[in-house]
Amino acid sequence: MDNLTIAGCLEALHRGLPPGVTLLAVSKGHPPEAVEQAYAAGQRHFGESRLQEAGAKIRALRQRCPDLEWHFIGHLQANKVRPVARAFAWIHSLDRLSLIQRLDRIAGEEERCPQVFLQVKLRPDPGKAGFSSEQLTRHLPTLNHLSHLKLRGLMTMAPLGLEPDQLHRLFSDCRQLAHQLRARLPSAMARDFNQLSMGMSRDWPQAVAAGSTFVRIGNAVFGSR
Ligand SMILES: *Cc1c(COP(=O)(O)O)cnc(C)c1O
Repeated sequence: MDNLTIAGCLEALHRGLPPGVTLLAVSKGHPPEAVEQAYAAGQRHFGESRLQEAGAKIRALRQRCPDLEWHFIGHLQANKVRPVARAFAWIHSLDRLSLIQRLDRIAGEEERCPQVFLQVKLRPDPGKAGFSSEQLTRHLPTLNHLSHLKLRGLMTMAPLGLEPDQLHRLFSDCRQLAHQLRARLPSAMARDFNQLSMGMSRDWPQAVAAGSTFVRIGNAVFGSR
């Protein structure tokens, strides 16, 4: 895709997004040049799901795109926690307690304080990870004691094949769950727990209608991978 097209896609998306919703441009599968074009058009938040691919882009763009913020959105393996904590200011895909505890410890060692989302799975979806609402409730005492992570909210992905009204219900359920959790967090943490990472190219309108504040969009910005 050429420069104008990426800028044009971003502009069209921004016209559809209400204030307070951040567009996260998912650049996985696209070269650093595509990221740079989006950056030149004013885009600042970028999402990547594979550490190795992201690392090369982050190094390539560090000088030219100084205030770019990288978000990790992919499945995070325990042995990749340290490099991810070093390279990413945001992590959207914390899907198990052992991973959260490990990240908290390593972030402390690395003197980082990543902004993180808890990934939830509210509908059956084989092969996808995520906490159930019961698990999150059970883990709350542990979450209350995290010291090097800034918990920003919940992230979810919709299974394929849902109708628009089912998507809206799913995203609304996620918002309600976030609301319930927030009410049970200590007030200093509750203040930051005010974001929802929901919606991709195919379902962002339903996610935004249900209260999303971060839409993670790849294809609709950069073209299909
Ligand atoms: C790839 C990916 C996206 C973006 O998907 P598109 O269909 O390209 O918009 C969003 N979230 C996650 C977790 C992804 O892996």
